[in-house]
Amino acid sequence: SQSAKYLSGDASAINDFLDKFDTFLIDCDGVLWSGDHLFEGIPQTIDLLRSRGKRTVFVTNNSTKSRAEYTKKFAAKGISCNEEDVFGSSYSAAVYINRIMKLPAPRNKVFVLGEVGIETELQAENVPFIGGTDPALRRDITDADFAGLADGSLLDPDVGVVLAGLDYHINYLKLATAYQYLRRGAKFLATNTDSTLPSHHAFFPGAGSCLIPLTNMIRQEPLALGKPSQAMMDAVEGKFQLDRSRTCMIGDRLNTDILFGVEGKLGGTLAVLTGVNKKADWEANEAPARPAYYVDGLADLLAVTK
Ligand code: PLP
Ligand code: CA
Repeated sequence: SQSAKYLSGDASAINDFLDKFDTFLIDCDGVLWSGDHLFEGIPQTIDLLRSRGKRTVFVTNNSTKSRAEYTKKFAAKGISCNEEDVFGSSYSAAVYINRIMKLPAPRNKVFVLGEVGIETELQAENVPFIGGTDPALRRDITDADFAGLADGSLLDPDVGVVLAGLDYHINYLKLATAYQYLRRGAKFLATNTDSTLPSHHAFFPGAGSCLIPLTNMIRQEPLALGKPSQAMMDAVEGKFQLDRSRTCMIGDRLNTDILFGVEGKLGGTLAVLTGVNKKADWEANEAPARPAYYVDGLADLLAVTK
């Protein structure tokens, strides 16, 4: 396969690159910032893309924040962005449940393993849910719980979906409850299946690792609604009326972002080296996906203005 074209420091190559696309799908963590640390020149780079008439859509697998909360983070970092420009894995999952699965009531309730971002987006789509941040589940399991989960008296008969994302309060009681719903036929969905959660200093367990106990018990993978799932691409395409051939995915992670763009048959993919993966990763034989272009950091695109 062709090797990725390096754009850093090459203004004319960057110009040619920009001319190929109308829309940029931009991953957030590892591209714009790392956790809370904004990379240098990012607001200016987003402004550059927009000044060239490009549409910018922020596509993140982080399920812990809703689009509204993400919009606040963008504002705090000096990047102008409204809720409509953000597409998160929680939103993707809520839209999928409400508009694609269309489970007949009353068996359309969702048991959530995850944080408030999932709850907010389910509410926005009018999807009923339980679990999530409910403090009643943040405790040790008791003998009464085992009995009530076994005979079903502690289970809500309306639950038809288990939706798992990153849950900072994961515990045995929640896993046992989710498992009983799955055993009773609930559909298994995940906001995203990132194995790790990158932070500024180290890697931590990601959403895909929190739900492994469930896949281990039911021997079935969840349907994931975040990158690289093409269910998410279809939802993004439907919402923004994408011309895929004129759309470029920008990201730091090969097995989520770049694979998302490649499998979605986008016109291009741009890898940045400010996040999870390095050049050697896509040059390896077992690379999950290979980008068409790469830069050291997204702000290197600013070279065209110098
Ligand atoms: N999931 C969680 C919970 C996160 O905190 C992050 C990054 O902050 C991610 C996923 C990855 O997000 P992105 O797709 O923006 O890289
Ligand atoms: Ca990322």
